Amino acid sequence: MNYTRSSALFIEAGKVIPGGVNSPVRAFKGVGGTPIFIKEAKGAYLYDEDGNQFIDYINSWGPMILGHAFEPVVNAVIERAKKGTSFGTPTELETKIAELAVSMVPNIDKIRFVNSGTEACMSAIRLARGYTKRDKIIKFSGCYHGHSDSFLIAAGSGLSTFGVPNSPGVTQGTAKDTLLAKFNDIENVKSIFEANKNEIAAVIVEPVPGNMGCIPPLNNFLAQLREVCTNNNTLLIFDEVMTGFRLAKGGAQELYNVKADLVCFGKVIGGGLPVGAFAGGEEIMNHLAPLGPVYQAGTLSGNPLAMAAGYEMLKALNADLDIYKRLEEKTAYLEKGMRSVLEKNKVEFTINRVGSMISVHFDKNPVVDFETAKNGDNQKFKDFFHGLLNNGVYIAPSSYETWFLTDALTYEDLDNTVKAVEKVTK
Ligand code: PMP
Repeated sequence: MNYTRSSALFIEAGKVIPGGVNSPVRAFKGVGGTPIFIKEAKGAYLYDEDGNQFIDYINSWGPMILGHAFEPVVNAVIERAKKGTSFGTPTELETKIAELAVSMVPNIDKIRFVNSGTEACMSAIRLARGYTKRDKIIKFSGCYHGHSDSFLIAAGSGLSTFGVPNSPGVTQGTAKDTLLAKFNDIENVKSIFEANKNEIAAVIVEPVPGNMGCIPPLNNFLAQLREVCTNNNTLLIFDEVMTGFRLAKGGAQELYNVKADLVCFGKVIGGGLPVGAFAGGEEIMNHLAPLGPVYQAGTLSGNPLAMAAGYEMLKALNADLDIYKRLEEKTAYLEKGMRSVLEKNKVEFTINRVGSMISVHFDKNPVVDFETAKNGDNQKFKDFFHGLLNNGVYIAPSSYETWFLTDALTYEDLDNTVKAVEKVTK
């Protein structure tokens, strides 16, 4: 494939945008080479500036469950834009989408809309701290909750009692309130609670992490987290920015039948427009301003274009009784196909999958947390990534990301993907 125009555009972009991108992973740093500049997308496909077509397994990092340029969403945005793009006042549409979201997701009475997943998680943590009057939070190594300071904390060697900032600019003061735990290791979580009695406001978790590949929760891990949180009067926050409205209508709470106290959403809930939201039971949510003392605000929060897009997206997901079944079947089909060709080609691999989230790791041992996710052979991943790209299949440019399937994919697309996997791993 020829990427001449993308290469030229990347050089131009680098002159005026740091690293040429507005979000780091887009720069292909982990895999090398030049990022592809996308011109347009429709259904399951991306089209780049050089005229190449790709089957898309990123899908805007999750939200395009019904495919790119999904007509009801596009039409709603066009119609809404004609009537004004932002008022900074309440609109009826905000209530409509809130009612719909509350009806689809278990255990939430009220929801507040923000502009990104980052804002949703940042605000949920503030609310949890304000509600419990405690400062510390537990997050899991390898889980990503956006780029606000409290979450940019990585594990030190072994279990760190206090977090260590992994971005300059995050103060030690902030980092010390973020305690790191190991995903899928409930004893580890319990020991952190033991060492920080009555101090932990919240545990925040991606119920199915998608930021270290896709990691299924094992041995009732989520239910056990629920129990530990309840026993310690700590709030359990599910970051469902990726899993919400994707794994089931009601997200991971529904799939695993575990109740979270607060739930964070992003991307999907805006149909691909810049939206996030956080939600919970009435008692907790009423602590937010203007009802309560915990401050949170946004000029563009509940923006009419974003709400119009999100409302159409949620309506479509809510109306289609078979959507999650179809997504599951398509992804299981892809998994089966990839397993068979990888085995045939004698590749050492692990495939993890939950619903329509799937990841391929170049390591034969189980991948269950951040440590094991790091064991993958990165050179093999790079070759795999570029091989697939050159064969018209676009997966995320990092071995720490999940693939997201869209219902717009046909079985022919899936067969072509498996053929590409077979070819590039020969
Ligand atoms: N939480 C999770 C689980 C995410 O995957 C992401 C982004 N991929 C975020 C939060 C942050 O969302 P945003 O990029 O919209 O700020």
